[in-house]
This record gives sequence, structure tokens and C-alpha cells, in this order.
Amino acid sequence: MKEYSFKKNDEIILTIDDISDDGSGIGRSDGFIFFVKNTLPGDHIKAKVMKVTKSYGFARCMEIIESSNGRCKARCSVFEKCGGCSLQNYKYEEQLKYKFNKVKNDLIRIGGVSAEEADEKLLPIVGMDDPYRYRNKAQYPVRMGKDGKPHAGFFAGHTHSVIETDDCLIEPEINSKLLDAVLNWMIKNHVKAYDEESGKGLVRHVLIRHGFTSKECQVNLVINGSKIPDEAGLIKLLIDVMPDNLKSVTVCPNTRRDNVILGDSYRTIYGEGYITDTLVGITFKISPLSFYQVNPDQTEKLYGLARDYAQLTGEEEVLDLYCGIGTISLMLSKKAGHVTGVEIIDRAIKDAKENAKVNAIVNAEFITGAAEEVIQTMLPGKGNRRTPDVVVVDPPRKGCARSCIDAILTLAPKRVVYVSCDPATLSRDIKIFREGGFELIKATPVDMFPHSSHVETVVCLGKNFSKPKDYIQIRIDAEDYYRIKESEKKSG
Ligand code: SAH
Repeated sequence: MKEYSFKKNDEIILTIDDISDDGSGIGRSDGFIFFVKNTLPGDHIKAKVMKVTKSYGFARCMEIIESSNGRCKARCSVFEKCGGCSLQNYKYEEQLKYKFNKVKNDLIRIGGVSAEEADEKLLPIVGMDDPYRYRNKAQYPVRMGKDGKPHAGFFAGHTHSVIETDDCLIEPEINSKLLDAVLNWMIKNHVKAYDEESGKGLVRHVLIRHGFTSKECQVNLVINGSKIPDEAGLIKLLIDVMPDNLKSVTVCPNTRRDNVILGDSYRTIYGEGYITDTLVGITFKISPLSFYQVNPDQTEKLYGLARDYAQLTGEEEVLDLYCGIGTISLMLSKKAGHVTGVEIIDRAIKDAKENAKVNAIVNAEFITGAAEEVIQTMLPGKGNRRTPDVVVVDPPRKGCARSCIDAILTLAPKRVVYVSCDPATLSRDIKIFREGGFELIKATPVDMFPHSSHVETVVCLGKNFSKPKDYIQIRIDAEDYYRIKESEKKSG
């Protein structure tokens, strides 16, 4: 292996050609990888080495010698300091191009898909018409400022110092008014913000969640204690901001001295302990502790594709692995015979069951457990479950466990719909499915988080019936092919 002798403060020239998971630019000097914050693919820069490890280094951009064609001015005033939105200075169409190519390159490099097949089967990325104000949930840390007053904002990248901002452009505009109401109540009642070093102070975080369809709003105060003073005063100030739509105010005690935002329980001080919202045709009851998709517009598109790719007729047995609060299971239950959702977090399964009830869905059941373990009990001869016709997986970034994929291969469903938040592990898993007799039918990347480097992908995998060439050209999926073959047989 080549020996490199880079050291701190060395000056280097780099051309940035990629983006890391946290949104830093990636460039190579003599083949050695450097991560450089606030740089973009196409930038040619002078940088100073900050830190070097055995296989990569970090550098600071000193001068942009030639700027990327994709660069634009970030709209947000705290863009350079804030830890969110690392790509806001990259034109949105360039962000989409970059994300599409990331999925495509991973499919080719890791998934073993040929360039021609990737061109044919990877459909255009689904972006947003307006990539701002898309988040329905925000969690603002509250800290005391040097002026002796409480401030709310966001953490600066990789730190715990709060960047004050009166408006975050990916959150609803009204949030800044709700935050002001909380801060004014704190000032009036001499309530101190939490201090991480001393563990003193009361208010740690303010969580605000909006139902984009229902318009209902919930404000949740995470506190370092169990009670707050002047509850009525706080509620009045919040109602003044949202007289019609504020439906829930809660306090969530968290006296632990760690980085986890939420405590384990909450108390309702106004309205209900939850708000409701509708997504993919299902009504969800959302408590301060519930998981709920944060970009509802794109979730509709992402899960809508998953529903299309599942091609259900109303009869099928569907297995939804890594089901979370059951969004996909409940959506598919309307088009399937029966759905089983499996999820490792018990609280999410409780929410899924509750949401099934709220929607009067009786053909969906939910099991708490690790997907790779629960699926073993579904294998032939291991129980009396119906074999799934369609399996949906929506795993976390690390992808599916190998034993989970092997069990799916043994179950041999007609189709697998894979929803992924990491193109690299998706591609690794697609390779295994293909080796196991499945075929990549089609895939669509979806931009769930504009201005971040993340991209989701929905993939349809079907059984690999070796197809004659003319059928391949019209890109019908395996089942259509099967149906055509059947009718050909009948007509002799
Ligand atoms: N489709 C879901 C979201 C899936 S996110 C929804 O709409 O709610 C991935 C989920 O996988 C998370 O809920 C996570 O808790 C769960 N998970 C992680 N590891 C798991 C495992 N080994 N088995 C089952 N579920 C797992």
C-alpha cells in the first residue's frame, strides 16, 4: 500500500468530486481522500490539512480557486454555521443529479448491475417542486445566551453550541412565533434554559410538530425536572399564536445527562396528548414520543411507489419487515388479503396497532421482534403461517441482515419491494437477491431530505424467469410475463 506523509497544516490543492454522508466535499490528493466542509463537486480548492488518519484526512478550505458550476447562494442566513442543510448552497437540480448518480453508481459498483441495465431500470429521481418548508417536525435546543436570556435555535455542526435563528427555511414559518412564545414565557417566569455542563436549568428542548394535512399542531417542552411554573401563561401565549390549530401542549421530563432529546414519558397540559394527521390514506395518532415521517409530501410519493411496485390485487399475503409504526403495512392492507408487520421497537408496534384500530383495519397484524429472527418462524415447516406473496423491507441504514435475505429467498415471494435510505447497503443486498434468483425490475430514487446528502430509493425485485429478448425490451415485470405465457399456452 502507498505510504502518505500528509501532516497537519500542510497546504494542498484538491478537486472535489463527491459528497460524504454528512455533506462534506470529498477530494483526493495523490489518491489520498480528504473531507472538506462547505465544498461541492466541481470545486477546485486550496485547503489546509487539519487531521490525518491512516486512510483519510480532514482539511479546511482556504480558497476556492475555481468554483463548482452547481454552486448557488444559500438562502438561509446561518447556513455556514448551522449543522443542518449542508447542501443548501448547491443548486437543487444539481442536488438531484448528484443523488441520482449516487444510487446509479452504487448499483453498478456494489450491486453488480451493468451500466446498460442501470440506465434501463433506474427511473428518474422524484424531487420536490418546492424544496423548502417541507419538515413537519422540529426540535429546537434551548440554551442561555451571553445576554443572560434564553435562546432557541439549532446546534452548530458537530458541536453543542446553539446557533440562534429566528427562521429555519425547511420548517414551517409559524415555528419562530411559537418559539418566541416559549422564550417570552421563560423570561416572564425567570425560567432558565438547561446547561449541559452543570446539569442545571429547566427547559432543554422545544419540539413542534404539525399535521400538514390536518393542520393540527403540537408543542412539547422537554424539561430537566417534572413541573413547569405558570402552565396557564404558557398555554395562553401559544394559543395567541395558533388560536385554531394548537391541539396539544405537553411536557416531557428528561433529567438524564446524555444527548438523547426525549424522556420516556410526557404529561398533557393542554388539549389531547396527541395530534392526528393523514398520510397515504391512513389516519395517524401522533404522540410526542411517536415516530412519524418528517417529510409528508415525499413520503406520499415514496410509499406510493412502494404500493405501485407491490402490484397487489386484494388477495395477497404481505410481509412488511422493519415496519416502524406500520405506515406501509396499513397502506397496503387496503389492497391485500392480509399484512403482517414486523418491527424491533415495541412502542412503534403499539402505535401501529393503535393506528390499525383508528382506521378500522382488521387484516393487519403486528409483531415485535427482529426481522431476521421473526422471519425464521415463518419458514416452511416452522409454523402454520401463509407464505407471503409479497415482501416489503424498509430497513435502517445498515440494510437487511444476511439471514433475513436468506429467509426471504427461501420463502420465495413473487415480489420484493425494497425501500432503502442507503444506496450502498441497498446495492449490497440487491446483489444477494439477484444471486438468489431475483431480478431487478425497476428502481426509483426519492429525495426525502432536500439540502442533505441523503437519498431514499424504492426498488421492485421480481422472480427471475429467464425471459426471451423481445419481452425484455418492453420491460414487463416477471408476473406479466408469466401471465402472457399462460395465455399463450391456452391459445396453443
Ligand atoms: N416503514 C416504517 C419506517 C422504517 S424505518 C414507517 O413508515 O414507520 C426502519 C425501522 O426498522 C425502524 O423503525 C427501526 O426501529 C426498525 N428496525 C431496526 N432494526 C430492526 C430489526 N433488526 N428488525 C426489525 N426492525 C428493525
